[in-house]
Amino acid sequence: MMGDILQRLGTLSPGVKHLSRLPRLSDLIPSSLPSPSSTVTDSQVPSLFREPYILSGYRPVHQNWRCYLLSVFQRHNESLNVWTHLLAGPVLLLRWWANVGALGYTLDAASLPLSLFLVSSLIYLSLSVAAHLLQSHSEHAHYFFFFMDYVGVAVYQYGCSLGHYFYTSEPAWRESYIGLLFLPGAAFFGWLSCAGCCFAKSRYRRPYPMRRKICQLIPTTLAYLLDISPVVHHLFTVSWAQEPSLPFHTLQIACFLLSALFFSLPIPERFFPGHCDFVGQGHQIFHLFLSLCTMFQLEALFQDYARRRDMVVEVFGERQLWWACVSFPALLLICISTALITMRHVHTQLQNKQEKDK
Ligand SMILES: [Zn+2]
Repeated sequence: MMGDILQRLGTLSPGVKHLSRLPRLSDLIPSSLPSPSSTVTDSQVPSLFREPYILSGYRPVHQNWRCYLLSVFQRHNESLNVWTHLLAGPVLLLRWWANVGALGYTLDAASLPLSLFLVSSLIYLSLSVAAHLLQSHSEHAHYFFFFMDYVGVAVYQYGCSLGHYFYTSEPAWRESYIGLLFLPGAAFFGWLSCAGCCFAKSRYRRPYPMRRKICQLIPTTLAYLLDISPVVHHLFTVSWAQEPSLPFHTLQIACFLLSALFFSLPIPERFFPGHCDFVGQGHQIFHLFLSLCTMFQLEALFQDYARRRDMVVEVFGERQLWWACVSFPALLLICISTALITMRHVHTQLQNKQEKDK
C-alpha cells in the first residue's frame, strides 16, 4: 500500500518541461522501506492497545519502527488522532505569523510568556502526534509515548498559565490569595497532572476502572481551574466593548469544556460500537476541540499582549519575567524525570510479566 501511495505521489510531478528533471518522491525514498502491514481487529492485538467500542483498524504490534512512521499515510484507527494534531501545528504557526504582521511582536522580556505559550503548544502537539503514531510498536513504546504525551499536556497548561497571568490578569485578581500563589501553584498542578496521569496509566490495567479516569481528571481539573481563574475574573470585570480579546477567551473556555467532555466519556462510539473505528471517535473530537481551544488562546493572548506589552515590564519587573522563563524548562525537566521514573517501574513490571508468561 505504501509503495502505491509513494508511486502515485511520485507520478504527480508536474508535466512542465523544466521541472521534469526533478527527482520523483519514490526515487528519494529507498524501495527497501518496509510497508506497514494491513490493520487487524481488536482480538488480534494485546489488550493494552484495545480501545473500548473500537473493534477494527488496529496496527499489528512489533513491526519495524519505520512502518509506524509511514503509517501516517495509512488508514487506521489512530489516523485522525495523528492528523488533527499534526495539522494544528502549522495552522498555529500561520496564525502566529499573521498576528505578528497585524499586531507586532518584538522578542524581549515582555514577549517571553507569549513565546513560551507558543513553544508549549508546539510541544504538546508534537508529543501527542508521536504518541498516537508510535504507541502501537510495543507495550514499552505504548507506555513511554503516552507518558511523554502527559509531559506535553503539563507544560502546555503551564504555558497557558504564564500567558493568562502576564497579559490577561487584572490588578485586583493579582492581589488576591489566588493571584499571589498563582505561578508556583500552576507549576505544581501542572506537574501533579503529569504525575497523576502517569501513575494512573501504570497502575491500572484494561478494562480500565473509573478510578483511573479520576486519578487523571482530578489533578488536570484543579490545574485548569487555577490556570483559567485570571481569565474568568477578567471576563466578569472588564467591559466587552473595551477588550477585543474577550470573545476569543470565551471561545477558548467553551472549546476546552467540550474537549474535556469528549476526553472523559467514550462518546459517540459507545452508542455505535465498531462504527467509529476510523472516523467519529470521542478522542478525535477531543483533539479537534483542544486544537481549536489552542487557536483561540493564541488569538486572545496576542490581543492582550498587543494592548499591554508596554506595561508588562513596568508592572511585573524583568526579574519575574525571567524567572517565568527559567521555571518553564525546569518544569519540563521535572515532568520528563517523573515520566522516566514511572517508565522504569513499568519496565520492571513488563519484564516480570514476560518471565511469568514463559
Ligand atoms: Zn490524544
